[in-house]
Amino acid sequence: MKKIGVLTSGGDTPGMNAAIRAVVKAGMHYDAEVVGIYKGYYGLIHDLIKPLDGNAVYNIIHRGGTILKSARCDEFKTAEGRVKAFETIDRHNIEGLVVIGGDGTLTGARLLGKEHDLPIIGLPGTIDNDLYGTDYTIGYDTAVNTVVAAVDKIRDTAHSHDRLFIVEVMGRDAGFIALRSGIATGAEKILIPEARTFIEDLYDSLEKGRSHDEGAGIIIVAEGDDFGGAMEVEKKIKKRFPDFDIRVSILGHIQRGGAPSAYDRVLASGLGYQAVKALVEGRRGMMVGSINRKIEFTPFEQTIKYNSPINVELHSIAEILAL
Ligand code: ADP
Repeated sequence: MKKIGVLTSGGDTPGMNAAIRAVVKAGMHYDAEVVGIYKGYYGLIHDLIKPLDGNAVYNIIHRGGTILKSARCDEFKTAEGRVKAFETIDRHNIEGLVVIGGDGTLTGARLLGKEHDLPIIGLPGTIDNDLYGTDYTIGYDTAVNTVVAAVDKIRDTAHSHDRLFIVEVMGRDAGFIALRSGIATGAEKILIPEARTFIEDLYDSLEKGRSHDEGAGIIIVAEGDDFGGAMEVEKKIKKRFPDFDIRVSILGHIQRGGAPSAYDRVLASGLGYQAVKALVEGRRGMMVGSINRKIEFTPFEQTIKYNSPINVELHSIAEILAL
């Protein structure tokens, strides 16, 4: 493998830069030239390609976002778009690709690899942690820490004013961020898409909470919860508890940015190296992840087809600890 291309695609996550750096350095180790493809699959179609050397990735391990930029590209979803993408790959004599992104990115990688017989290894890059084939995705740990820092601050106000805060965190289809940050902040209730929430249970919890803290507290809601997000939850609670002083806080894009945590830097570094090693050894069509601290390769078909299971026991424990 003489020339490897690397790209970041879909939503950016903290740790993508650490992964790019690892890919470049591993390429140097294995005597493979590494080129950066800018703006994800859009850059493949539009030939946005530049060589990456040690200097290009110097001083980036600690930076959020992605130096390669990321983009969403609908044209790549068509077979014709992927033909154009492959023409660029061919013109630059790129022999293998490392793609860093979420479910959509890996879906695109599977198709491109199959249709054009191209070796591709994927890295799990999403703050949502919803990819099958790894315990943690790159960016998830940082996002959770960002939420925890924000909720700790919100809790100060909640208690000073006896207010109930409903905090919405990212996770349209997955409650990983909500569950982990909810436990870490001692949230009174955590609403996630993976577990049904019965409104009466929610009211019961709030009734119990009222007895010891006059309605103050934190409810963490994943975007994709049963009720449709924090604003809807607020309406329901207001109806039942009109005397509660309720505020909604939607954390939004602060969850994507910022310096990656040590955990994410180490994960991204290890997986970035493993991706290049895998290409050199002739692997293809797989995502590299870490399961029980071991490197595991999962075929794209499986990462796309299956959902990463949430720890339901942890959710039950959270309910008990919140009482
Ligand atoms: P993520 O990778 O974070 O899930 P997206 O779902 O936006 O983000 O996907 C990123 C990009 O991957 C899309 O803009 C598109 O170029 C490509 N992609 C997504 N889904 C498909 C698909 N079904 N077929 C081909 N390419 C896809």
